[in-house]
Amino acid sequence: MTLLPPARLYIDGELRDAQGGKTFEVINPWTGEVAGEAADATSQDVDAAIAAARRAFDETDWGDPGNRASRVALLTKLRALFEANKDRLAALARFEAGAALGAVGMAHVDTANQGWDDYLAVFDQVTWEEDLGNRDFRGFPSHRKVVYEPVGVVAAITPWNVPHYVNVGKVVAALLAGCTVVLKPAPDTPGMGAIWGELAAEAGFPAGVLNVVFGKDPAAAGEQLVQDPRVDLVSFTGSTGVGKRIMEAGAATLKRVFLELGGKSAKIVLDDAPDFARECAQSMLVFHAGQGCAVQSRLLVPRSRYEEAKAGLAMAYQGFGDNWGGMDEPTHIMGPVVSARQMERVLGYIDLGQQEGATLLAGGKARPDKGGGYFIEPTCFVDVDNSMRIAQEEIFGPVLVVIPYEDDEDAIRIANESQYGLSGGVVSADQLRAERVARRIRTGSISVNGGMCIAGDLPFGGFKGSGMGREWGLAGIEEFLDSKVIATRL
Ligand code: NAP
Repeated sequence: MTLLPPARLYIDGELRDAQGGKTFEVINPWTGEVAGEAADATSQDVDAAIAAARRAFDETDWGDPGNRASRVALLTKLRALFEANKDRLAALARFEAGAALGAVGMAHVDTANQGWDDYLAVFDQVTWEEDLGNRDFRGFPSHRKVVYEPVGVVAAITPWNVPHYVNVGKVVAALLAGCTVVLKPAPDTPGMGAIWGELAAEAGFPAGVLNVVFGKDPAAAGEQLVQDPRVDLVSFTGSTGVGKRIMEAGAATLKRVFLELGGKSAKIVLDDAPDFARECAQSMLVFHAGQGCAVQSRLLVPRSRYEEAKAGLAMAYQGFGDNWGGMDEPTHIMGPVVSARQMERVLGYIDLGQQEGATLLAGGKARPDKGGGYFIEPTCFVDVDNSMRIAQEEIFGPVLVVIPYEDDEDAIRIANESQYGLSGGVVSADQLRAERVARRIRTGSISVNGGMCIAGDLPFGGFKGSGMGREWGLAGIEEFLDSKVIATRL
């Protein structure tokens, strides 16, 4: 008996096993044991999914202007099915992605579903057509219109860390825009993708409009999607390295590429921050074991108050103690990291930090005693210089680095000295001062004094190596539209 039901492919309106019936094991990060099995898609399966999506876009009325209300109705129905299946989704987030019970709602289920509602709410604001009126341009009097049309077939390639959130961000927006979709979730979390197929079938989606494929071979299905000329746009969320490869591979067929990539965001606590030590203490990187693209994994504190910051953090880590990693503990917000591979990677960075001369303030070790899975202690490095690799590279685990700065200018310089620019935060007693600093950070979103800068109605995306394009809200839907000018000679 496995914990999770088998994850099946969804191609051309049918739930299917992989051709040849091959499957792969899905591992429970809490125990390292098998949690379920998933169909291992062959290249023929991926080909069939692309063909179905192409056909549904080219040969049905799915993307037509007259079908907008039906699309909204269908996505509203699907949303209701996801609501009714919240417990199943939560179980998938727990036993595929390693979500702790106290983090399931926030990171995995409710926030994503709320974002879905936000998409539905802004749909009426989408500009589908603009009338630019008449103009005689160089002797050609014309009436000009701009119409906005769905881009076509979208490949949505998603990671394992917050799969439902990312899947909703892409799939709902693309479908509302009128595109057809091939969703390819990461091999660690295939069930989070397969549930889309099952519920779309139940909702009565037209064949080919949404397809879901996944497989075990690293990069195989993803590369096939990126290289296929029948795919018009690749919407990718994942690491910056893979994002670059996708952009390069997509060039051969001049694909539109939309990239949501990694981050190493800075939280700057200014010297006048109210309740300074507590503010630093709250910066512990523990939620979902630090596996979030937008987490503030670099804490920047004034050198003049560095000792206070360290003391606050030391107390916070002590207080957090062993209150994490309990599979059935409703208050725990931190569980294991997702896989043995990810554990090795994070522990490698912890070794590296020590070699680079940073000091471990807390944690630093694997904790197999927690249940046989992939547990790493909440870890904090102090005496970190921003040039160290642990300050520059995305670790994607429960590892915070604390960097001292001299003054506001120095804090801004350090925050910006990064290949990434995804999120961040500034804290000060003086809101205007904090906002002045926030405006100078090169990042797609930033919080001032704890403001929530990531929500379903706000455009989310990165500067620099954190990507291009925006997801969520109106901007998220409009990413899947192309403009067409129609000029009629008067
Ligand atoms: P990843 O290794 O880049 O993989 C992401 C997805 O891309 C997976 O489905 C993966 O499937 C596929 N893939 C890998 N190589 C590919 C290739 N050459 N061509 C096409 N597809 C390919 O990332 P991850 O480890 O799953 O996720 C963690 C990363 O995601 C972190 O860097 C994190 O910051 C980022 N992230 C960003 C955001 C954001 O919104 N900016 C949100 C969440 C996560 P296979 O493994 O089967 O190849």
